[in-house]
Amino acid sequence: MRHKPIYGIFLLVAAVFCKSLWAAAPVSLDLIRVAVIRNDPEVQLQVFGRFTVIATQTGKAIHQGRRMAPTAVRGVRQGLVLGERVVPFNQIRVEPASDAAISVNGKRLRGTLEIVRQQDLTLLVINHLPLEDYLRGVLSKEAPDYWPEEALKAIAIAARTYAVYQMLSKLDAGFDVTGDVLSQDYGGKSGEKHPTTRAVKATRGLVLTYKGELFPAFYHSTCGGMTEHSRVMGSFDIPPLSGGTFCQFCAGSPFYSWSRRLTKEDLNWALYKSPYGTIGTIRALRINKRTPSGRIETITIVGERRTLTMTAYEFRALLGFDRIRSPLFYIEPDGEKAFLLHGHGWGHGVGLCQWGSSELARRGVLANEILAFYYPQSNIQYLRELGIQRSITKGDVP
Ligand SMILES: [Zn+2]
Repeated sequence: MRHKPIYGIFLLVAAVFCKSLWAAAPVSLDLIRVAVIRNDPEVQLQVFGRFTVIATQTGKAIHQGRRMAPTAVRGVRQGLVLGERVVPFNQIRVEPASDAAISVNGKRLRGTLEIVRQQDLTLLVINHLPLEDYLRGVLSKEAPDYWPEEALKAIAIAARTYAVYQMLSKLDAGFDVTGDVLSQDYGGKSGEKHPTTRAVKATRGLVLTYKGELFPAFYHSTCGGMTEHSRVMGSFDIPPLSGGTFCQFCAGSPFYSWSRRLTKEDLNWALYKSPYGTIGTIRALRINKRTPSGRIETITIVGERRTLTMTAYEFRALLGFDRIRSPLFYIEPDGEKAFLLHGHGWGHGVGLCQWGSSELARRGVLANEILAFYYPQSNIQYLRELGIQRSITKGDVP
């Protein structure tokens, strides 16, 4: 579901009458739907100012107030419970007045909120807000605010492109992006910082294109020497994402080099807890194949009972993306019981290297030049000039 913020009773009434009209009209890419909570049994809600709670099914206001004190919301068989009150609806919308912020579990958010009671009675909470406001909450989490302005601007354009690409490719889902690192980390209004907000404003509406089309402008913390081809992320075989860019500019990143001791017991435990299951005492850990950038493509774990081969992504997912920071590493034995992993970089390595961008900007390179360096043959265009409009109707939240 996508809704424009409603301010005041007049618009509220107009909204009820116009519901069917809106349902048919295409909605522009100005608003994004961020799943901030996906499966929690309860959330704490608060509104710092006037608000209206609307039952989505009927479009009618069921509650209004000058402010909402901290209120626990949970799902029950009959619908939703707000504080002490049971409302017989599975889906509600919280619309604050224009100057009021909503807080969900202590995090302040701009825009409006959709709360959906799911089949298993857990809650799906979706923040609907203007794309540009969303990016303010993303950039402050994705880049340090003390970085040079041109680096922040380059990252803002990449983040906007990535977000819009997600919006266009998820027309069937109830939301466009998640509020965590699976999409882009999102701190809401609470996380906003002046320098990052300034970079979002300075690049307002600008996105990256290749031959006039948007592409998923992946980015990552530190490439560790060379960027990666996007085939590791899916089937995107276009020059801006083909990798192979030599980047020594991220050498100052704290994640440029890393080492990790991995005991055989750790590895066995991780397998035991995972769908792979135990493979017996670990005998060896072998790299099978590397990509042209030197990153591991597949890795084999030899156990007493079974041998497993998986992609580097699966290996990182198994042990934790924070523990195995990148697929660019070497393995050496560490006695009988452990392995030592020596690696470079943090992240998948596709697209823009954030630490490299920061260093380039520090050397006087401009945002558009940084983007041309990491996304060869790409162009910077205004989103509105691309003539893309998504058409999505009301009532599509699962
Ligand atoms: Zn780099």
